Amino acid sequence: MADLPTFELSDGVVAAARRARGRNLCPECFGRLFGRWGHGLTNPGRAARLDAVSGPAPPRGTDPCSICGGAFDRLEVWADRSVRAAEGFEWRRFTCGSRWDPERLATEEAVWTEVGTEWGESMRPAFNRELGKAIEARCGASGGTERPDVVLLADLPVGRVDVTVMPIYVRGRYRKLDRSLPQTRWPCRRCRGRGCDTCSGTGKTYPTSVEELVAAPFVRAARAEGTRFHGMGREDIDARMLGRGRPFVLELLRPRVRSLDLRSLAADLGADAAGRVELRDVAAATAEDVVAVKEAAPEKSYRVGVAGPVGLAKVNEALSLVVGRTIDQRTPTRVAHRRSDRVRTRRIVSATVVDAADGRFTIDLRTEAGTYIKEWVEGDSGRTDPNLAALVGAPLRVEYLDVLEIHDQEG
Ligand SMILES: [Zn+2]
Ligand SMILES: [Zn+2]
Repeated sequence: MADLPTFELSDGVVAAARRARGRNLCPECFGRLFGRWGHGLTNPGRAARLDAVSGPAPPRGTDPCSICGGAFDRLEVWADRSVRAAEGFEWRRFTCGSRWDPERLATEEAVWTEVGTEWGESMRPAFNRELGKAIEARCGASGGTERPDVVLLADLPVGRVDVTVMPIYVRGRYRKLDRSLPQTRWPCRRCRGRGCDTCSGTGKTYPTSVEELVAAPFVRAARAEGTRFHGMGREDIDARMLGRGRPFVLELLRPRVRSLDLRSLAADLGADAAGRVELRDVAAATAEDVVAVKEAAPEKSYRVGVAGPVGLAKVNEALSLVVGRTIDQRTPTRVAHRRSDRVRTRRIVSATVVDAADGRFTIDLRTEAGTYIKEWVEGDSGRTDPNLAALVGAPLRVEYLDVLEIHDQEG
């Protein structure tokens, strides 16, 4: 047997109920004056119990309820509006809320004082709860605040339901094999994306990006209206991203379809991406994963091709002086437009020459997150100190750079 509802009536409750008579209240609003008294009853159930004790309420006129203005009588209408407002979008979980005329909310509190109830429950949360039940009954979706697919806001004064469609989050790792791809869509600096002569009307500085190539099949399948791309850091446009790839979270904005076969979409990014970008470890994600990706600062391994008039012995000697030590890097000139100008201390974990011939050296190194590799090799006019060029006493030039591994979640 389930718990029986308890609603032991005190003299205070009965007296307050008598004072509330004749105020033209709907059963929901009448019962809710005592919403925090007893448990296991709906508010209309409380109203019926009070009717039995304090005498039935006088018949209600045709005027709407003087507290809610008829909102609770029209719950089914609001449920119908909610479902229709979200039509065309796939959703199984929802959160619903409501916007009220503040004067109406104030009226409710005034009635509590006038009838002398200490047990009143506010109208808005009660309406939201009942609306949620009505929507659940209507379409089988489930209400709650955890990870909704849509947020439905009933705007009572306006008579309309506004829908916010929540993004789909997809996480994975990308490998970039192309030295001409920026990580994210890069709007033309001159026209800021509107399209101009400089960008041939595309609005973009680069024809495409990792973001666009990775997102394309997902956007098509989800019929999304846009994307946001969050990488765990980013490599230079002309650097390849190898190894296990770089972790990212892709947001699909206002998707119409949510049932996606992520693995098969990731397996075939299409002809545009072939040989340029690959995905692995693709899985469903959450908004929290975006934060995790943005906050992570793992060590990274690089392979860098260096040219300069210097012998192998000298390079090896210079590397032995920096391994395990820290370097000071003032914000490089090339990124000064988007990062504040300051000095950052970074550690070179390891550095080894893996190949050398005719004034060319291939160096594998592992560094702390946020180390600028080109600047560490070339010096950036002394803004990185110490730097390899100064240590070997010759000008050095980076010919290419690859990220070999992002060392997150290892071991
Ligand atoms: Zn009412
Ligand atoms: Zn332009």
